[in-house]
Parts: sequence; C-alpha cells; structure tokens
Amino acid sequence: MAALEKLSMHIDGDAAAPASGDYFESFNPYTGKPWALVPRGGAADVDRAVAAAKRAFEGGDWPALNATGRGHLLRRLGDLVAENADRLAEIEVRDNGKLIAEMGLQLRYAPQWYHYFGGLADKVEGAVLPIDKADTFTYTLNEPLGVCAMIIPWNSPLLLLAWKLAPALAAGNTVVVKPSEFTSASALAFADLVAEAGFPKGVVNVVTGFGAEAGEKLVAHPDVARIAFTGGTASGTRVYQNAAAGLKKVSLELGGKSPNIVFADCHMENAVKGAISGIFAATGQTCIAGSRLLVQESIHNEFVDRLVAFAKTAKMGDPMSPDTQVGPVTTQPQYEKILGYLDVARADGAECVLGGAKAERPECGDGWFVEPTVYTGVDNKMRIAQEEVFGPVLSVIPFRDDDEAVAIANDIVYGLAAGVWTTDISRAIEIPKRIRAGTVWVNTYRAVSYVAPFGGYKRSGLGRESGQQAIRDWMQTKTVWISTATETPNPFVMR
Ligand code: NDP
Repeated sequence: MAALEKLSMHIDGDAAAPASGDYFESFNPYTGKPWALVPRGGAADVDRAVAAAKRAFEGGDWPALNATGRGHLLRRLGDLVAENADRLAEIEVRDNGKLIAEMGLQLRYAPQWYHYFGGLADKVEGAVLPIDKADTFTYTLNEPLGVCAMIIPWNSPLLLLAWKLAPALAAGNTVVVKPSEFTSASALAFADLVAEAGFPKGVVNVVTGFGAEAGEKLVAHPDVARIAFTGGTASGTRVYQNAAAGLKKVSLELGGKSPNIVFADCHMENAVKGAISGIFAATGQTCIAGSRLLVQESIHNEFVDRLVAFAKTAKMGDPMSPDTQVGPVTTQPQYEKILGYLDVARADGAECVLGGAKAERPECGDGWFVEPTVYTGVDNKMRIAQEEVFGPVLSVIPFRDDDEAVAIANDIVYGLAAGVWTTDISRAIEIPKRIRAGTVWVNTYRAVSYVAPFGGYKRSGLGRESGQQAIRDWMQTKTVWISTATETPNPFVMR
C-alpha cells in the first residue's frame, strides 16, 4: 500500500508539525480506507496559532493596510480559489465523499464571497452624529474585533469557511481556523492560496485536530474575541457555553429539520424534483435538508408514487464520477448514526416505501452508502420527524390545509429553512410570512448566495452569514467625542 500523505498545519505563515508529534488518519468515504495523515493539534499548537494571529492583528503589515488594500487581497484570493477550484474540489471529495459535481460547483462559486466582501471592505462607513450637545463633535468608527476562531464542519468545508472568512478579513480581523477532523486537507491546501495571494503571515492560521481538544482550546483561548461555528446543535451548544465564560461574540449555524411543503396546486413535476433535491442531494448531509416533506392529502399518494419512482433512478457510486447522483456518507460515525435512525423509524411505526437499509450495490464497493429512503405514515411527533438525521432519509407527513401545514412546519425546535411548492400567488406570499425559519424558498430549494443573509431561527443558530450586514458582525463600533469648548463645565454632573 502506498504511504499516506502527511499533512502540515499552517501557523504564522509556515507549515507546522503538531507539538505532540501525533497524527491521525483521514479516510476516503468511498473506499473506506485512509489516504492522509493529519496533524493532531492540541493546546500548544492553538497557543502558537492564536499568538501569531494576535501579533498580526496588533502590528506589522496587516493593520497598516487600509480597507481598500484588504479588498485587493481578498479579490486576489477569490481569483486563486477560482483557478484552483477543480483541485480543491477533488481534495474535498476524497475526504468527504460528496459528489464532484456538487463540490466542483461549490468551489467555483465560493470565490464570489471573496470578491463580494473584498468589494465591500472599503464601503463600511462610520457616521458623524447629529449630537444634541453644544461644542461637541461626535463620530463613530467601525473597527475589527481581533483574533477570530472559525470552526467548520465536514459537509461543505471551504464554502462554509468562505462565508466566515471573507467578511472577517474584509473587516480587518485575523483568524485561526479549525477544520473538522474528518476533512482537514482542503483547509490546509486553501491556506497555501492565502499566502500566495499576499496576506501577511499570521493573518490566517489553520490548526487541525479534534473538536474536543484543539476546538475546545481555541474557543476558550483568552485572546480569541469571536467564534464562528457551523456544525451540529450539540457541539454548537457546547461551543456557546465555553464562549460564554470569556463573554465572546459567537455566531452559530446549526442543525435543521426543514419542512418542504407541497400544496395540491403545485407544479407537480417541479415539486418532485424539489423534494428530491431537498433530501437526496448531498446524500442528505446538509443543514438545509428538506427532511420533512409535508404533502397535501389530496395529492399525497400520487406525489409519493412519483417521488419514489424518480428516486429509484438515482445513480449511486463513485463520487468522483460526474454522473453519480447519490454518494457515500462522509464519516463512519455519521453512517452508523443514519443506520440507527432507520431502526428509530421502524420503532416509530413509519412505513418504509423506499430504501430503509445500507446500500449493498456493487457500484458502492466498501463505501459507507445508505439507500435513498422514504417513510410515509409519519406523524410529526415521531422521533424520525423531530430529530436531525443528516442523511438520505425522508419523512412524508400529510396535511389538510394551510393552517395545518404551517402548524406542522413550525412544530419543531429547529428553524433553518423551509420550502413551499404552490402556483397560487397569495399562498406564495403568505405562507413564508408564517414559517419560523431563516430562509424560505418558494418553488425552488437549496439556493444560497453571497448577497442573501443565511442563518437560523430557534435552535438552528444565532446570527446571519452573507449579505451586506454580515461584515458588521465582524466589527465593533467605537464612538469618539471631541469637545471644542474652551471651558470644562461642572465636573460633578453628567455631560
Ligand atoms: P460537530 O458539530 O461535532 O462538528 C462540527 C465542527 O465542530 C467540527 O470541526 C468539529 O471538530 C468541531 N467541534 C466539535 N465539538 C467541538 C467543541 N466542543 N468545541 C469546538 N469545536 C468542536 O459535527 P459532527 O461531525 O459530530 O456531526 C454531528 C451532527 O452534527 C451531524 O449528524 C449533523 O446532524 C450535524 N452537522 C451539521 C452541520 C451543519 O452544516 N449545520 C455540519 C456537520 C454536522 P471535529 O470534527 O474534530 O470533532
């Protein structure tokens, strides 16, 4: 067997080995075999990376650069990501097993965040305040926060990093990134491009390792001012608790159990495709998965028949093959978690009308594959309807009318996204108003953009990524008061 590729962290502009000397294996989900050795970063490595980021924030070329200069660097970085999109996508597929078609698209699109926020860097203006006091000149400055930590998951590593990194750098912060232990390689390859773009050393550092070790240390580090996290709700809650001890600013993009609501007046062919895209794209491993399919009773049976017939045609197999439609599950724990939920659905009494088992097709080899699965007869109170599976497992729930659809859609702790399928213009406008979710798609699904704020209601998270406002989330406001009076009035009372 060929020797495994040994990866290096990026700290202070240099390749870095872990202080412990320990490495762990990264697996290819399609073969189920290791392909690289990842540095097991720990407290000492986090300390070095945060110290480098702090030095870069406080002195040297980075704070000397004005906002326009930061914008130039970000646009150069976006260009480099675009030039290297295919190579980065291949690295991601090797680590997370998602389709090359999907990751290639993501990597060709991710540069937009660097271009957009690069353009925005020098358009954030402070204000001269119409102050109500005589002989006083008062204005605001928007300043960066300092060293920011970014903890990214395994499903779309570099896209989700771009959502955080582009506004953070545009605002003038410095950064330490901790990728998922399952998909560290792409963030390390990306760090080379950051250096090539001309960012001063220490501005972006990448420490690899386990969430419970490197991740926890990074969140708790006293010199980290802000944390941006995407991942599961359990880990996100823990991050929030740890960050609270240091009163750090936090944004969390967490799980979901999104309702995809199909009304009887929908364009049925499009709605079937929308339901498929909501749950089987990315093998269901996406926070916005439309994993609860709410179908109006009058079309329920016909819709399910069409959906199942379509899903049966999905081609499974090698994610590197451009015509594969459903790839493997990214991690072994996730694979086991999904299989566990098939047992939960059975115990709940849901009726399996498609799949419901591990995929043992020849084209799936030794990979971690689960058959596209559809359950009908699901009640929204069942565990299979309430808990995030993060896999290709769909629960179909019938509803009678608009009120019941909205009630079921909102009867969940999550609120990340929702889909609505209707040709009725009033419904298309009124139903989104009533859904408690950060994103509602009407007659489409899984669309994201650098111009569109994204984030969760309820336990799906805190804060918004993308869109113009996002850059403000990486800044703090300073108010400066200048007195032009020649005499200081009574010092014992408030001005
Ligand atoms: P986690 O939420 O545990 O992992 C996300 C990131 O957080 C990883 O980089 C992880 O590192 C890190 N992390 C984990 N624990 C901590 C901690 N205490 N402090 C700091 N960082 C931490 O996701 P899992 O991989 O365990 O997946 C579990 C579930 O989360 C999935 O089944 C799915 O439901 C959900 N999920 C949601 C995602 C989303 O896009 N919203 C993305 C991924 C998962 P490490 O990998 O080294 O543990």
